[in-house]
Amino acid sequence: MRKINISFVVLLAIALFIASCGNMATKSGTSVAAIDLKNMDTTANPGDDFYQYVNGGWLKANPIPSTKSRFGAFDVIDEENRAQIKQLVEEGAKEANLPKGSNKQKMADFYASGMDSAQIEKESLTGLKAEFDKIANIKTVADIAKVSGGLYAIGVAPFVYIWGDQDAKNSKNVIAQIYQGGLSLSDRDLYLENDVRSKEIRAGFLKHVSEIFVLLGEKAEKADANAKRILEMETEIAKFSMSRMELRNPLKTYNKMTVEQLVKFTPNFDWKQHFEAMGFAYTGDCNLAQTGFAKGLDKMLKTVSVDDWKIFLNWKLVHSFAPVLSDKFVSSDFDFYGKIVRGKEQNEPRWKRVLDNVSNGLGEAIGQLYVEKYFPPQAKAKMLDLVKNLRIAFAERINQLDWMTAETKTKAIEKLNAIDVKIGYPDKWRDYSKLEIDRKSYIINIIKANRFELEYSFSKIGKPVDRTEWGMTPQTVNAYYNPSKNEIVFPAGILQPPFFNMNADDAVNYGGIGVVIGHEMTHGFDDEGRMFDKEGNLVKWWTDKDSVEFNKRTKLLVDHYNGFNPIDTMHISGSLTLGENIADYGGLTISYLAYQIAQKANPTKEKIDGFTPEQRFFIAYAQVWRQNIRDKELMRRIKEDVHSPGKYRVNGGVFNIPQFYAAFNIKPENKLYRTPEQRPVIW
Ligand SMILES: [Zn+2]
Repeated sequence: MRKINISFVVLLAIALFIASCGNMATKSGTSVAAIDLKNMDTTANPGDDFYQYVNGGWLKANPIPSTKSRFGAFDVIDEENRAQIKQLVEEGAKEANLPKGSNKQKMADFYASGMDSAQIEKESLTGLKAEFDKIANIKTVADIAKVSGGLYAIGVAPFVYIWGDQDAKNSKNVIAQIYQGGLSLSDRDLYLENDVRSKEIRAGFLKHVSEIFVLLGEKAEKADANAKRILEMETEIAKFSMSRMELRNPLKTYNKMTVEQLVKFTPNFDWKQHFEAMGFAYTGDCNLAQTGFAKGLDKMLKTVSVDDWKIFLNWKLVHSFAPVLSDKFVSSDFDFYGKIVRGKEQNEPRWKRVLDNVSNGLGEAIGQLYVEKYFPPQAKAKMLDLVKNLRIAFAERINQLDWMTAETKTKAIEKLNAIDVKIGYPDKWRDYSKLEIDRKSYIINIIKANRFELEYSFSKIGKPVDRTEWGMTPQTVNAYYNPSKNEIVFPAGILQPPFFNMNADDAVNYGGIGVVIGHEMTHGFDDEGRMFDKEGNLVKWWTDKDSVEFNKRTKLLVDHYNGFNPIDTMHISGSLTLGENIADYGGLTISYLAYQIAQKANPTKEKIDGFTPEQRFFIAYAQVWRQNIRDKELMRRIKEDVHSPGKYRVNGGVFNIPQFYAAFNIKPENKLYRTPEQRPVIW
């Protein structure tokens, strides 16, 4: 299944540490060198290219595997976690007399159904037949919303994403969130721009869509015509979709209305029928995140013929399931999305693809077994200690700022103190008892898992917000800040080397996971996060003067990152990546100070492997970001990812930190040197 399920959708609203793509997790406490000198390239000058200096050895020794578009510290852990999770699933499957309905039975059967390639080939599209029939029976424009709702219930999002989540202006209340969709390419600009890359991707897309229609039984000529029409329709949708920059403004994406109002707003799209077909006769409040998109779609429903909409819906249905259908579909899908878009050479072996889907569908059930076996309880205590010092350090920084008024400082400290911290795994686990899984059909299992997620998401509406809930599984190698709950979350998956190392010196842990903690805390105060108050409400709590001063300072970061040119003529967008760059800046600043605070109790000046503690702090930060990346993937991420590429999180990040200059004796003649005036003092 491509990742357009509900759990993915929820991630839209939260600030991730890295752009999500891997989804598995860990082992901490093993004896891994805190800093391995072999990974460095000490022939490079730290002031000219700190990333190369710290990571050059590793980059050379770790070429990108043929199945990956990039390979770095996160991916190494991901691979280890996959192997561990496979073992957990297989061990479970071997237990005699697994009770039917138990989590272990579900994991084992879900996995077995996905590994049964003969059955998947035999079944081919059978599992989707009911949906194809519904599309074939569409007679009028009014039928489209209804059929679209039915598709959404099984995990296909032809037009919009819908899920239950907090009202941005009332964090005690959960409402339906409606978010723009409709595009099969990962970015609106790919339809609208005329650079070589966009044109190549559009040409590949036409070929792929045509192949899919041939596989569905169309003649070549008709298949080509369908592909052309779909590209035209999606191009029209792209034109009224919000850009990535606009999407970063929470005020622009807040438009609360009732279902009645929605129906009036877009008279050609019957939301009531859509909700009903999803399985919920929903009448409550909704947030229509992109009103321009909804208006555009409404108009388009009338101008495009019903026959064309049927082609469009057939495409969306197959497109969503292509990665899990029979081999021909999987290959065509990979040849386009894997090879042409991301530069991969080979698809992942079946077991990894299947395991990822099982881990998606039964995330916390697997997570529970995972943390029992691989997450040491001491790790949580150590993390709490780090968080405590990070919070003290952040408060100290806020208090000493000369640009912020006392009024806003008081509220900032209140918000900082209110940040909720989640570490490792949830206190209570999700209940999967209503999800039925057996060995008969992989597709049906995926459909059931998707429906189960949707029901779970909608079940939150109208109930008090559950602040104990997690937006990521424990096995995920990532972390996040959720502005609506004012919380920072660190799954067990990221709590292992090189991020977190129980056996490492403090400097290394503060430079690694300490910066991650500071990064997530800073998201509460970045250009987006600062618009939410301590309870997670979208409300103005800054004075205008403070906002002006803040923007003046962050502008330095925009200019700094705009200057980076990772490939060809493509530059990083300092505006698109601003929130993340502020968070990296804040993470480094705050964690460095937190390390000094920790040192007071337990001072050490000793060098390890020839490096001072201060140097080890920055080396530890830089080694987190080691990664090789394919050109195509790099280009894609420059356009789409709100995070700067790893190399620039290092070479951009540390050169704004005064203590880095002192630690490595950086001089004005060094290539990456920035004058004190160029370095912002934000936090
Ligand atoms: Zn972030």
